[in-house]
Amino acid sequence: MDDLSRFCCLHSDCPDHGRRGAGNLTVTARYGPGKARRMLRCRTCKARFSERKGTPLFDARLPPEKVVSVLEHVAEGCGVRQTGRLCRVNPNTVARYSRLAGGHARDLHDELVAVSPPDDRGPVR
Ligand SMILES: [Zn+2]
Repeated sequence: MDDLSRFCCLHSDCPDHGRRGAGNLTVTARYGPGKARRMLRCRTCKARFSERKGTPLFDARLPPEKVVSVLEHVAEGCGVRQTGRLCRVNPNTVARYSRLAGGHARDLHDELVAVSPPDDRGPVR
């Protein structure tokens, strides 16, 4: 039995949109290398979507370990070019995944944190 309690419907018009563990999701298919990725379906609105949709791994061309490694380097303060050299990926790739991960982190923050203190420094660049 798949544990889908951390997933929610991503269809913005759906009454169960954003509700985790609401019991509305089922696994309809498995795909990708080793059939490791799940296609989910919402019983409420009938939408189907990849379990990776909305995460930096969605439609990723790099292997997941590589994406994680790139993001770990960036999170530790390595610059884009430095990370590219250390992980042996193109700097543009580093920049792209950083942007994806930044947006995902912001969304998660907004969901999990009730009050965010203002920061005069503005957004992280
Ligand atoms: Zn739905």
